[in-house]
Amino acid sequence: MAELRIENLAKTFKGGFQALSGISFDVADREAVFLLGPSGAGKTTTLRLVAGLELPSEGRITIDGKDVSGWQPRERNLAMVYDKHSLFPHMTVFENLAYPLRNRKLKDAEIRSRIGTVTETLQVSELLERYPSQLSGGQMQRVAIGRALVREANVYLLDEPISHLDAKLRARMRVEFKRLQRDYRATMLYVSHDQLEAMTMADRIVLINQGRVEQIAPPQELFDRPETLFAATFVGEPSMNVFEARLLQQDGGFGLSLGKSRIALDRDWFATGEPISPDRAYLAGIRPQHVTLADAGATGVNVVHGTVFAVETLGSRIIFDIEAEGTVVRVLTSTDTGRQYSHEIGTPIAFRVAPELIYLFEAQTGRTVRQAQFTDPAGQLENGFAPQGARRQ
Ligand code: ATP
Repeated sequence: MAELRIENLAKTFKGGFQALSGISFDVADREAVFLLGPSGAGKTTTLRLVAGLELPSEGRITIDGKDVSGWQPRERNLAMVYDKHSLFPHMTVFENLAYPLRNRKLKDAEIRSRIGTVTETLQVSELLERYPSQLSGGQMQRVAIGRALVREANVYLLDEPISHLDAKLRARMRVEFKRLQRDYRATMLYVSHDQLEAMTMADRIVLINQGRVEQIAPPQELFDRPETLFAATFVGEPSMNVFEARLLQQDGGFGLSLGKSRIALDRDWFATGEPISPDRAYLAGIRPQHVTLADAGATGVNVVHGTVFAVETLGSRIIFDIEAEGTVVRVLTSTDTGRQYSHEIGTPIAFRVAPELIYLFEAQTGRTVRQAQFTDPAGQLENGFAPQGARRQ
């Protein structure tokens, strides 16, 4: 049983640089929480404060209700996994795994038993007599994780443990990790800059930007209901299309202008939430999977005309970049749909926008003032990809 709580944490380094301010979140018992954010956001600093390797300038860290803010790292009973380089090169795999247990003065039989269980789960039982230099990258990584798991710690802290692995191995480790977390029922705080890792492995994500918490939510909610422009554009691959939008009154309703093109807004979408004023500046966002390709000759509401700017074929899907109204809009299609359109750069083409799936952000603050309205909020995310034209109805 372990519950971690971070309250109003701030860190100013010597020299006056404030790396963190007002960081608050908790990790429930047996929960996997991911700290996600761009390089320099303050993820590792947060983890180091939790580990006790740095002291906070302000705020409190509690484990199971006890304030551990001033405790020494080893008194906190946390296990930290860095990358594979944290293994001792002059020790065998067995010795590397036994090291933290010997430090804790456990008996030999107990050490062997714990190592047996962990190495079986991590599938490295065959490698116990090897040295780190005799292992592959993935094997080294698993041993590094194993060294944390043998500890039976309160909370496991992981700092980008699989980011150095190649793409295929990373994909396998993501799956193994989920299984491990379930088997060990471990409370985990995991740092990553990779949204795919966080989206696929986290119970909840704490999104950090410039030393502040941007949003805390389960992966699907963060993707569907981003509270800020930063959250909307950081999560999702390919990234959300964002353009300057002017609000217009048209045909008894409201619309958005995208250059000379007009997008009629959905009445329910418009009416639900805080008032939107035509006098304020907004940014409109739409995910590439909520834009549909159309023939160059298409007419009707919410059709925007442009030309093919670039095409990326990804096997199971195709991304069209379309130059239109002074901007480039990305459209994510299935391969079947994408094949029906010319990939030739400069060819006239059009796209349709699903108006109820538009996000609207206040230009000045980046705050979300309208969320896309999904009729079926379940089951869209699959590596940040929804089927083309996914109007979930
Ligand atoms: P990355 O993904 O690149 O590791 P991060 O989100 O983990 O980034 P941190 O390592 O926490 O970022 O760093 C946050 C900020 O604090 C950065 O601007 C960094 O330069 C600064 N920083 C980190 N450690 C120190 C230090 N000891 N002294 C001064 N500034 C520091």
